[in-house]
Amino acid sequence: MSKAKSNSKSKTEGATTATLAPGGDNSNHAGQTVTEPRVPPARGRDRQLPASLMTPPAPPPPPHLEDYQPIIGQAQVDALRFLAREVKGKTIKMVNSTSVGGGVAEMLNRLVPLLSELEVPTHWDVITGGNDFFEVTKAFHNALHGASYTLTKAAQDIFLMYNEQNRERMQFGEDMVVIHDPQPAALIHSREKSSAHWVWRCHIDLSNPDARVWEFLRPFVEQYDAAIFSSQSFARQLPIPQYLFYPCIDPLSEKNKELDEAQVQKVCDELGIDRSRPIVTQVSRFDRLKDPVGVVQAYKLARKYVDCQLVLAGGGAKDDPEGAVVLQEVKEAAGNDADIIILDLPPWCAREINAIQRASTLIVQKSIREGFGLTVTEALWKGKPTIAGAVGGIPNQIIHKLTGVLVHSVEGCAFQIRYLLTHPEFARRIGAAGREHVKENFLMTTNVKRWLLLFRILQQAKSRLAL
Ligand code: UDP
Repeated sequence: MSKAKSNSKSKTEGATTATLAPGGDNSNHAGQTVTEPRVPPARGRDRQLPASLMTPPAPPPPPHLEDYQPIIGQAQVDALRFLAREVKGKTIKMVNSTSVGGGVAEMLNRLVPLLSELEVPTHWDVITGGNDFFEVTKAFHNALHGASYTLTKAAQDIFLMYNEQNRERMQFGEDMVVIHDPQPAALIHSREKSSAHWVWRCHIDLSNPDARVWEFLRPFVEQYDAAIFSSQSFARQLPIPQYLFYPCIDPLSEKNKELDEAQVQKVCDELGIDRSRPIVTQVSRFDRLKDPVGVVQAYKLARKYVDCQLVLAGGGAKDDPEGAVVLQEVKEAAGNDADIIILDLPPWCAREINAIQRASTLIVQKSIREGFGLTVTEALWKGKPTIAGAVGGIPNQIIHKLTGVLVHSVEGCAFQIRYLLTHPEFARRIGAAGREHVKENFLMTTNVKRWLLLFRILQQAKSRLAL
């Protein structure tokens, strides 16, 4: 295969249009017309972020159910209203350990108002605790992911003491109580005093836990009416019914909502991303498990055959010492290649991430270990041909060669970058199928549907027992 030809550019009055390789017309893979930036973007590896990105924007108001109608269709909105009818007026309490930051809080921020709008009043409570509690639960979290840890009696006492404190403070008068993750798991001790259905929603991967930490938590978990996991591969054997609820993204959030061409172009101009040539992107924290150095190596191999640029958009390197080390490793691997653009973005840059993903020709998520992999969901939702490591929840999202491609090595990733850039019709097809897969399974509205169904199932089970 010969190296792709450089792009021809044709000037018209005012705007200048650029011809993109490999599509052969002036549209990118999303079918959008690409306008060459008026100011040629600055090249080089270290980008100075524009001052406008240095402060968080005000959060937009949460959307209403009807706002989703143009995306999922009236029939789906009606289906949600229909499902809600049987549980109308029944109440739900969601309990987790933080109201800001992290995927669970982000999801509850949308789920709670939508359920309430469907006349299933949903209340969200956050447990409180001292630093000692959160140190213990952080250690539990890491141990449940397989990190080595010595569970002490003191750690157990701290965990139980704060759970007890929260239990005394909280009321459990709702019809369904949903406890998220291990931190508040011992609130189940209030079960006897309540007639609610108790559900444990586990967002983490329990496939390879530290045995002692799991043995400590298991007796709490087994008292629930049901447990929910995010992927089959994250679950454990339990004597209670288990349900599979995929994580979800909100198609109306800043991160995922439609952006018009001018908005995408503006962000690319600000960040110095040249849209006249193919763009391969990975969005991820600078973390070794996301393998950003492997992405640079794969890009460099593919680059011998196809013209492209690499964008590595990450964050967290400023307040995470390990992130800073990984960022340094990435810069060293990149060397002085001016076509590798490394962006260390603040956490509130949702719209910028959205625009970068939309401007990309291909998206890569070359993780070595992964949770569910929401960046993959986001990429697929934008119709982008996506190449990702076959780990964690990624195989739930990427059906190889149908909704994306799965890879297991640097060489495999390089091959797929080269293949997809030189087979734009196949790339377009898997991108479109990926978007449909997300629409069906991983949108917030599908998540609302799962909660309504589960609530109805638990209610029916209880009324059958009462007969
Ligand atoms: N993300 C972000 N800015 C960054 C890097 C990541 O906003 O610089 C977002 C990304 O868009 C996604 C989430 O953080 O929504 C990462 O979720 P994922 O499940 O992919 O990985 P995690 O970081 O939780 O391991």
